[in-house]
Amino acid sequence: MLTETPLAAQLAAQRDDRLRVLIVGAGIAGITLAQLLRRDGLHPVLVDRMPVMEHPGYMLALMPTVDQAFVDLGVHTEYRDAGTPMARYAFRSHRGRLLRTDSMSELLSVYGEYNGISRGALIEVLTAHGCPVTFGTTVDAVAEGTARFVRPDGAPASEAAFDLIIGADGIRSRMRDVLGAGAPDAVETGWSGWVAWAEDLGDPALGEELWGDGFFLGVYPVKDRLGVFLGGPDAALADGPAAFAGSVRNRVDELGPRLSAAVAAVAADPDPYLWRLDDARVPRWVLPHGVLLGDAAAGFLPTAGIGAGMAIESAWMLARMLRQADRAVLADVLEAWERAERPRVEAAQSNSRMLAKLMFRRGRLVAWLRETVMRMLSVRAALGPILKLVASRPDPDAIAREARNATFTAAPPAGHRADT
Ligand SMILES: Cc1cc2nc3c(=O)[nH]c(=O)nc-3n(C[C@H](O)[C@H](O)[C@H](O)COP(=O)(O)OP(=O)(O)OC[C@H]3O[C@@H](n4cnc5c(N)ncnc54)[C@H](O)[C@@H]3O)c2cc1C
Repeated sequence: MLTETPLAAQLAAQRDDRLRVLIVGAGIAGITLAQLLRRDGLHPVLVDRMPVMEHPGYMLALMPTVDQAFVDLGVHTEYRDAGTPMARYAFRSHRGRLLRTDSMSELLSVYGEYNGISRGALIEVLTAHGCPVTFGTTVDAVAEGTARFVRPDGAPASEAAFDLIIGADGIRSRMRDVLGAGAPDAVETGWSGWVAWAEDLGDPALGEELWGDGFFLGVYPVKDRLGVFLGGPDAALADGPAAFAGSVRNRVDELGPRLSAAVAAVAADPDPYLWRLDDARVPRWVLPHGVLLGDAAAGFLPTAGIGAGMAIESAWMLARMLRQADRAVLADVLEAWERAERPRVEAAQSNSRMLAKLMFRRGRLVAWLRETVMRMLSVRAALGPILKLVASRPDPDAIAREARNATFTAAPPAGHRADT
């Protein structure tokens, strides 16, 4: 459970830490990192701009790259119990006809499952042992390790010094500017979509997608229900979810009861969460005044279902490497983390961008060509680069050890020795 805690209390708790860490943003990446560091004996200060916990409760499907984070946190069983494996994935034609079904379980079996879980349930699992956070607080300036905390309306709250400041404030990050990254490189698709929940009509292990002519419909199982995503070009969404859902229904021949119920759920939701389908990538994660993590460093398009997975993996890698860091070696350990993790995240992001080129195209001819490709292209081929990442996770302990040794070989500080 996230526990609202005064900032002064969080600062007091970390006074004697070997590394004083500040995490700005209590989303998936920030919470994962905070909890892993806590488990390693640190007391990271965690703040979030939201006045209270009010995250949109959408669905997430997580690749097995995340599992070790839950193992390290001692909540892997809870994580598996709170989700449900998305064992199969079905792809339908733009008119609704089933074109192919692939087994995700077979594809990933050596590594684990593609686990469907709601965002709320995930945060509950991550914070099962308690997680202090100060809401209604952000950081608007950092100078020489000192962060200036402000309320969301800009009213100054206080200042404090840290050894490491982490911007984990999501895809529309303000910490990019605060920490010195500047504007990200972004793909703007001009599409958005609504997210809603539907009752699961009897196939809890099946995810389905329909890439239409000017719309996209996906359903993804979580425990006991289906997460629904219905999107299209921004101009086509202007009349609201019910009108758009109606127009989608008119453009397909066969949806079946499950997808029909999904479209109806979007139409019936008075205020479904609207997701803008853009991404973002900054060229460097380790910046003059701190570090970016998760969507703030690389925010994803939804095409490969991997953004949260990579955010959790990056947080886990960083936490494991920080186990071996103190102030003397911190800079080199952070550089080594970025060298190991950024290429992996960017490869996954490039895979999502490649799929987006197939998805966000309009026209019947395009839809027909896409279907011809997808009929031949298995999920294994479509997600090839991501599957390579799942199969080849680097060893953060070895990378951190190497970074430490390199620092000490270059300039051994008094009282330290390189590990052999
Ligand atoms: C509808 C939907 C479906 C998705 N499906 C999948 C999926 O199936 N699989 C998958 O792997 N990924 C999926 N993703 C992507 C995934 O949710 C993100 O990649 C993931 O949440 C990134 O985590 P994060 O911590 O970086 O950012 P977030 O989880 O967005 O957290 C950012 C946090 O920062 C806070 N914040 C924002 N601005 C400030 C500020 N200035 N100061 C302080 N705090 C601030 C926010 O309140 C929030 O708590 C989906 C995303 C959406 C929207």
